[in-house]
Amino acid sequence: MSENLTIADNMVVSLDYTLTLDDGTEIDSSRGQEPLVYLQGHGQIIPGLEKELYGMGIGDGKQVAVTPAEGYGDVDPNAVQLVDHDVFPPDMQLQPGMRLRMATPEGHPLEAAVVELKDDGVLLDFNHPLAGETLHFEVSVADLRPATEEELQHGHAHGPHGHGH
Ligand code: ZN
Repeated sequence: MSENLTIADNMVVSLDYTLTLDDGTEIDSSRGQEPLVYLQGHGQIIPGLEKELYGMGIGDGKQVAVTPAEGYGDVDPNAVQLVDHDVFPPDMQLQPGMRLRMATPEGHPLEAAVVELKDDGVLLDFNHPLAGETLHFEVSVADLRPATEEELQHGHAHGPHGHGH
């Protein structure tokens, strides 16, 4: 029955994927793990990948290149900012290249990379680590099913282990 299903809005897709950059560096892969399970058409995955998957069936494979504009954006020079030393706990050992998880005063999560330690502050880069990168996805569809009512109300897929919220 399910072999006639194809990827369309409101389908729950189990996707095997490998993500590499232009230089061949592998960033992420579902190899040896469970596939990524998501709800098509609800912005759960990056737009440049999602739009290329429509119409694929179970067992179909594809290579998709996603430009920064449809991936994690271009590198924004204004996203590199000097932050006062006193923002950080005094015992924190900051080093260039370190990634930090922070929060805005409103409590929104924020990630940054330490660029440089200066006398007057810490230079932080708030760009997404994959900003400016063309993303090369190799994907294959492991499974497909229509979403449940509950999944459609929530706007995301519920995996085999529940959805944890
Ligand atoms: Zn849910």
